[in-house]
Amino acid sequence: TPDLPPDMQSSRRRYRHIQPTSPEEMLRASTDAGMANMRRVMNQKTEEERMAKAPCTFCGKNGSSGALKSCSRCKAARYCDQTCQLADFKARHKRECANFVHPPNTSAFLTKPVANERYPQHPAFAHWHEDGVGCWVTIAGRLECDLHALTDSMDSKQNRDRRERVSDGGAANRQIIRTHKAAAHSLLGLRVLVQNRRKDKTPILVFGSRAQVLSQPSLTSAVLRGTAEGDNLVKFTRDKVPRVALGVANDPWDKSLRLEISHINGSEAKPNAPLPANVKDATEGTILLNTGDFAILQLQFRVGDGDTISKDWEALGALEAFFLPWASSDDTTAPASLPTAQAPASGGDGTGLLRAPFDQRGVRAHYADFIEHGEEAYMRSHFGDAQTGGMSRAEGMVAAMGEMLLGQGAQAGNADVLVQRLRDAGMGEIADKLASR
Ligand SMILES: [Zn+2]
Ligand SMILES: [Zn+2]
Repeated sequence: TPDLPPDMQSSRRRYRHIQPTSPEEMLRASTDAGMANMRRVMNQKTEEERMAKAPCTFCGKNGSSGALKSCSRCKAARYCDQTCQLADFKARHKRECANFVHPPNTSAFLTKPVANERYPQHPAFAHWHEDGVGCWVTIAGRLECDLHALTDSMDSKQNRDRRERVSDGGAANRQIIRTHKAAAHSLLGLRVLVQNRRKDKTPILVFGSRAQVLSQPSLTSAVLRGTAEGDNLVKFTRDKVPRVALGVANDPWDKSLRLEISHINGSEAKPNAPLPANVKDATEGTILLNTGDFAILQLQFRVGDGDTISKDWEALGALEAFFLPWASSDDTTAPASLPTAQAPASGGDGTGLLRAPFDQRGVRAHYADFIEHGEEAYMRSHFGDAQTGGMSRAEGMVAAMGEMLLGQGAQAGNADVLVQRLRDAGMGEIADKLASR
């Protein structure tokens, strides 16, 4: 794209799908991404409906919508009444609730496959709980599994504005891009659900801005290769081996951390709406959680230089664990010292540190198709085989999306390519409808 500064263009050359070489390829890429997104949104809606109608965890009876009450501590189990709840608590739930066996029920964090999907939308690549506080960590990546760049906005919907800002800045902007290596695709996006299930029913404060990821001992130098001025990291030695703990990346344009509070108790935190009462500091990601409350944070970390490590699984594979500190206090200021990856000790001073090791086997299994057979195989197995049953209900949406893509295709003189892609994807009916227009 000619509106990008030259530095950005050069370092993007290897990302073929970002700069498609022909209108046809552009259409193909946008159609693939559009379809995958559509399926994802549809499956999430289906799952939301299913969750609303989910049966009693104990007796399996269906409740009419909203009639069942969730366990107030974990929000993962739901019951007809207290009789079912007590019976289940004795039989099983006491242990499961305290051990964070299931994440809370929310379509914003689906750790199990939904509908006919083979892979979950939010696979838990790391999990930890301690002292009644727990977290699940998944990827907040792009469809094609490339790491993010600082020049992109954290919210893909705002990318157009962001691109304009980045390309309008002239020499000063080129300087920022050079100094911060901002065009490199080196940011790992994580999506973290954190929940308070403490028995003492005290609220806790979670400090998103103090989250860290720790390098694998053997990959510390690869992780450090991307280091740029102003990066948020701590080098230290453990057992005589050099390590690096990466903090949340700084954004040189917004002068803030690459951090976002995306959901509180399952509700989306909308950008222009009033802040939920739980959010004590949105830019620092400081959140107050009462018993049962849970929040979802999006965090980005610079892992490597965007070259040797450029895919989500490569970045995850270079890391040992994710860390998130909290304090049992309803004071809104951070304690003088919080435990960190490099100094994890915390002893009864009212602070805690979640240290969630990455499940490398799980990471490799999730991305195996991409690693072994490439992007198309991955797209197909993760998004392509989805149910056709849900299609009819969502046909209006598909048609709207198709219309938009058709418009793009017609502009590029390639409407027939789109129609063919729809047929290839098993959406023959929709393809026929579009073709007949
Ligand atoms: Zn029941
Ligand atoms: Zn529970």
